[in-house]
Amino acid sequence: MPTDREQEIVEAMKRLTAESHRLITQHQEVMREYERLKDELETIRGRRKSVFHAEKLVECSHCGRQTSIGAAVLLDIVVMSRKRCEVCGREYLIFNDVPMTEEQYKNRATDK
Ligand SMILES: [Zn+2]
Repeated sequence: MPTDREQEIVEAMKRLTAESHRLITQHQEVMREYERLKDELETIRGRRKSVFHAEKLVECSHCGRQTSIGAAVLLDIVVMSRKRCEVCGREYLIFNDVPMTEEQYKNRATDK
């Protein structure tokens, strides 16, 4: 015959087990929501990256090969920048988004 104390303990253990199951379920729901939000954030960031932060390629004015000017906002116009071709290693300028050698740039300036 169980004592009152034994009965009390068994009841308390049952309550704790039920509470534990409730917390586990809640934890799983919270983690599912967390993962869902994380996925959504990665999708949003991935989409933005592909639209705005893709590598911008220009044609080298020395060798004519495609060379990257790095991650750039594709909608931005590069007004004035000095870059080094990844293929031939020579420097060129980008003026109003048009790659040109220093010579070409100077000639362009004196044409006016
Ligand atoms: Zn080049």
